[in-house]
Amino acid sequence: MDRRKFLGSLSALSAGAVPTVLHAQVGPPTVDPVEKDIPSKSPTIALNHLGFRPHVGRKVLLVRAVNKDQPREYTLRVVGSSNFHFTRELKLTQGDLGACLMADFSDFNRPTVYPAIYQINVGHEYSVPFFICEDVWRRTLPRSVGYYRYQRCGVDVPGVHPICHLDDARRRDNGEHVNVIGGWHDAGDLRKWMDPTMLNAIALLNLVRNIPNPQPGDVTHEYILDEVRHGNRYFLKMQDTDGRIWHDVAGGVNGDNSDNHWTDNIVGTADDRYINVTKLEHISAMFATLQAMVGQIYGPSDSAYARLCLRAGVRAWNGSARKGSTLDCAWWCMAACELFRATKQKEYHTAAISLGRRLMARQATTYLADQHQIRGYWTDYGKGPAGSASSTGVPYFSVVYPAMPAYALLELYDAFPDAEDRPRWKDAVRMHLDEFVIPLAERNPYHLIPSGLYLGRPSPETYRPLAGRLTYRYFMPVRKQWFWLGIDSNLENNALMAARFALITKDDPGGGKQYADLAYRQLEWVMGGNPFGACLMTGEGMRNPYPHSRFVGLIPGGIMNGIAGNAEDEPVLDQAYTFHWRTNEYWSPHVAYYLWSVSTLENFS
Ligand SMILES: [Zn+2]
Repeated sequence: MDRRKFLGSLSALSAGAVPTVLHAQVGPPTVDPVEKDIPSKSPTIALNHLGFRPHVGRKVLLVRAVNKDQPREYTLRVVGSSNFHFTRELKLTQGDLGACLMADFSDFNRPTVYPAIYQINVGHEYSVPFFICEDVWRRTLPRSVGYYRYQRCGVDVPGVHPICHLDDARRRDNGEHVNVIGGWHDAGDLRKWMDPTMLNAIALLNLVRNIPNPQPGDVTHEYILDEVRHGNRYFLKMQDTDGRIWHDVAGGVNGDNSDNHWTDNIVGTADDRYINVTKLEHISAMFATLQAMVGQIYGPSDSAYARLCLRAGVRAWNGSARKGSTLDCAWWCMAACELFRATKQKEYHTAAISLGRRLMARQATTYLADQHQIRGYWTDYGKGPAGSASSTGVPYFSVVYPAMPAYALLELYDAFPDAEDRPRWKDAVRMHLDEFVIPLAERNPYHLIPSGLYLGRPSPETYRPLAGRLTYRYFMPVRKQWFWLGIDSNLENNALMAARFALITKDDPGGGKQYADLAYRQLEWVMGGNPFGACLMTGEGMRNPYPHSRFVGLIPGGIMNGIAGNAEDEPVLDQAYTFHWRTNEYWSPHVAYYLWSVSTLENFS
């Protein structure tokens, strides 16, 4: 591109755009304050604040192209030494989320006895210092695991809060008191949702599997197993007599915040919180998955506890017909894998194959919605007209579990090495990544994976055209429903799935490297490689926004909901201390997927 064309391209940048106010169809009519916080005053350098592994993942620097006078080169130097540096060219890259000047210094590796810390400057702007060393991600894991200690409920957590919620809780339906003390507070509040907090335990036990031989500096298995056992005391109490699992404690009686408070710890007084006794399929499936994992992993150290938990998991399995949505099906696949691993019983093998076929039937393997470019995404059973999910083609959406349908097939792939369907499971995920996820991620310089695929324009705001009737948004719609928030779990769950596929394809032509690269790019966005230059984990990196955590304040290792979008699908983040929950609240799934995906990637070399 010549200089004239380059200058012309900058005039169309959206970095300083002011969102147009549109009227909401659902929810409050006013524009949320966080939508107005546009990155005009942010740094232009977007670089992962942790740094890079020497030989795994690309080393990418992005500079937001905001004006025509920006330097077109960058200099990398080692901090604390004047004798090493190099200067290279930046290249313009166009795409969604604004044009960027990009550098790829993946070839740069400088063997040193001790990890060296580097810094990049572009003109007068300096990046956050970063390391290049093998354990640059791994050494953050103790901090993210430590997050859960701060969230413990029902015990005294020294330095955080005194003993709490010994009066949890009374049933919403009949007022009966049931002892459901314990567990973890789920987020920046004091509520105890079951599915996201069980995800914590599932992720922690996967961390144990992913790092079977901890080294000095790693968190010990003993510490992790103690943490999971704390959470599980609560989970076990939430199982009803029919084997199925209650939904939450203190979630709010009418979808509100009425139970989100400290209590007097005395049963029977007015401030007692409520148990939501609703029973959902995917929550039962997650419970069965978790208890079957406990049944395996605690066996050597506490066989009685392992057997007790496994029996609870089997009751959850038997208490359900295992029907339901795409998400339900994915988690029942996970449960079947773990119950088979725990028991070796044929019943779970047979069920797993059947569930896998149901899950694959919900993948769009043909070109739907009047287009011939994109396929491989999952559809949501039950939300479209009658008929099979894949023929109706309503794209599956979940901001917390977006990659679980694909991930569940990879779990099957590992659990059943002799299954006839095994090549089909792998091919299905390859199609999902190669023909859906990667083509969409490559539409922006950050390789950010969009959070939603849609048919047409479901609400009056920007849906980016893709092909035919297919549209997409990087961030959740803000005019479609009241509940919208940052997309860290979308990125991290996808990172986990891509990381697992990278391991499975490590010996294939290409070596799975592109999938590991994709996984790291999602994690890098969370850890500072974003348009705000803000690290979204407390205690790592710089420019961390203050979290929405109004009961205990800062939690080291806590990850905020992250960058959301406005009506124009441009990124927004509260950096003005307005305590905005949509972007700044801690939430368990982000930490769970972080430690699960990072530890998975540790096995890719
Ligand atoms: Zn509590």
